[in-house]
Amino acid sequence: MFAKTDELKVLRDPVHGYIRVELQVIWDCINSAWFQRLRRIRQLGGANMVYHCAEHTRFSHSLGVYEVVRRMVSEVPDIVAALSERDKVVVMAAGLLHDLGHGPYSHTFELVTNTSHEEYTCRIIEEDTEITRILNSAAPGLAKEVADVIRHTSANPLLSQIVSSQLDADRMDYLLRDAYFTGTKYGEFDMERILRTLRIEDGRQLVVKQSGVYAVENYIMSRYHMYWQVYYHPTARSFECVMNALFRRIKELYGPANEEELIDVFRPLIKNRPLSLAEYFRLDESSCGYAFDVLAGHPDRIVSDMAGRIRDRRLFVYADSTPESIEAVREKLAACDLSEEYYLGHDSVRQNPYVPYTGQQDGSIWVRMKDGSVRELSNASNIVYSLTHGPTNDDNKIFFPRELAGLD
Ligand code: CA
Repeated sequence: MFAKTDELKVLRDPVHGYIRVELQVIWDCINSAWFQRLRRIRQLGGANMVYHCAEHTRFSHSLGVYEVVRRMVSEVPDIVAALSERDKVVVMAAGLLHDLGHGPYSHTFELVTNTSHEEYTCRIIEEDTEITRILNSAAPGLAKEVADVIRHTSANPLLSQIVSSQLDADRMDYLLRDAYFTGTKYGEFDMERILRTLRIEDGRQLVVKQSGVYAVENYIMSRYHMYWQVYYHPTARSFECVMNALFRRIKELYGPANEEELIDVFRPLIKNRPLSLAEYFRLDESSCGYAFDVLAGHPDRIVSDMAGRIRDRRLFVYADSTPESIEAVREKLAACDLSEEYYLGHDSVRQNPYVPYTGQQDGSIWVRMKDGSVRELSNASNIVYSLTHGPTNDDNKIFFPRELAGLD
């Protein structure tokens, strides 16, 4: 038996109404320094440069994922019956902790430092931290079981499907939350309906009843819209592009010989080794924000310019990437004596709101038809079929300083 908190803890949340905690182990994880660190990391990197209210954090998203998992394991009858009490605690903890290893401005940071947030998440859970001790003192071996769900190596495949598949608690929370905080209404979908129509097939596969297909189509469409309108918004990508240029410049200027001269927050960038958890802990968007301000006064012209651009939101402008547009920017850069390496960014994005089953992965969405047969979603929905078989969606852009846009 897992210890309960002395009273039911309820945290108000604009997306789910209330987040309910009644297990001491969950409450202790929330109150740990590692989990509180997520208050200092935004959920959406540079999207707040476009959507000014998108200031929500990994902290609130993680609580939201926990709440969706908690509802699944306590309100969906098939799941309630299929999981042991221990599995329910494991999967709720995995939902709560799945983003624990995110660094600041995750995407850019992972790219530049060659780190993976998932790897750090598992290290924080397993490498004898406060989190490890909280989990293992609630039940010996619990920390490894939680990390196994996040790594997709759990003995029970249902647990990973609940936390991370193409219809999981993680996506359901971030789509609703990101839609709410950006104000993009079409990011919303009917999660209640999806939860009501969830079933388990053969004891090991989550499926949706055919009557829930419309709600799932709506969820896939919201994903489609959110990608183009929010996650791949060119201004958010411009923010990443400028930050990427700053970090590359720092890596070029600094190495082991002069690392002491670099502001300490950014020293991990130039280390070609995995960071210690103590080093990783200090990396958050508060410490980075301070560093940008300091570096805005740096003697290197490129470092000071890029850091000031990030701090003051003087982002690069963008244009579709074509041989002509690239050539035009190159000529202007040469005329202004600006280095193409830092002042001309390229980025292409492509998205599939849903990936049909290929036999390689277990994250597909399955539908139990009225006749009892089970079909993969793109064979049960015309809309999803069209989305996955239609032309590929991609967007190729170049990014460059606004000052160049007016030069002719
Ligand atoms: Ca997440």
